[in-house]
Amino acid sequence: MHELSYVVRFADRAIAIAEQQHAASVRKLVVQVGEMTDVLPEYLQKYYPEVAAGTILEGSVLETEPLRAKVKCLQCGNEYHPEKETNYLCPACGSASGKVLEGRQVVLKEVVTESF
Ligand SMILES: [Zn+2]
Repeated sequence: MHELSYVVRFADRAIAIAEQQHAASVRKLVVQVGEMTDVLPEYLQKYYPEVAAGTILEGSVLETEPLRAKVKCLQCGNEYHPEKETNYLCPACGSASGKVLEGRQVVLKEVVTESF
């Protein structure tokens, strides 16, 4: 269960951003969860209030949005979304030599702060 470590890291970064912006409070954090990770958005949301408590983040929410996977075919250069129906193969040439460009990361996309 590594969701908690992500939450701690994102909370630290959000606090730093809020301080930089001299924000009065933080409304929400937006986190993108790659569809090829095993991170469960509901756990991020579950841990967040505990981590936020007692900081400027208290009372804010953590929102998650899915980050679509993107694979680049090393045979023909085509970039595609891997589909289960095609066994995740390149739809242009049928090659399995794809390199994952996106979808394996969990990133803090946005921190929404309030200045009054
Ligand atoms: Zn291809």
